[in-house]
Amino acid sequence: MAIKGSCCCGGVRFELFERPAMVGVCHCSRCRKSGSSAYAYVRAEAFSWVSGRNLVARYAPEPPLRFTRCFCARCGTALGDPFSGRILAIAAACLDDDADLTPDFHEHVADRRTWRCVAAREEP
Ligand SMILES: [Zn+2]
Ligand SMILES: [Zn+2]
Repeated sequence: MAIKGSCCCGGVRFELFERPAMVGVCHCSRCRKSGSSAYAYVRAEAFSWVSGRNLVARYAPEPPLRFTRCFCARCGTALGDPFSGRILAIAAACLDDDADLTPDFHEHVADRRTWRCVAAREEP
């Protein structure tokens, strides 16, 4: 069964045909600012567009910075990078199905902001 994903406005929709091989959470400032920190890594062959590919905008930073970031040009949802490489880094926040994913690793943890923590208190 495919794992579905979409942006905030619903214009961009995609499917993953296998479980991500890995989930990583990046705490670097660039991921934080771009609105994406948890990535589901999936083989390019297992990724398919359903709609809205034409809505996807790309931001490629100046070298030496790497990692192109894609987002929905209509609603701004960070999508990760569904275009580059054999293994795609998809923004895990876009996945509509929970798929029971848990992080395999965290990186740039030293850059983590103190507000980025699991609160002991729950909203009513
Ligand atoms: Zn959108
Ligand atoms: Zn990062």
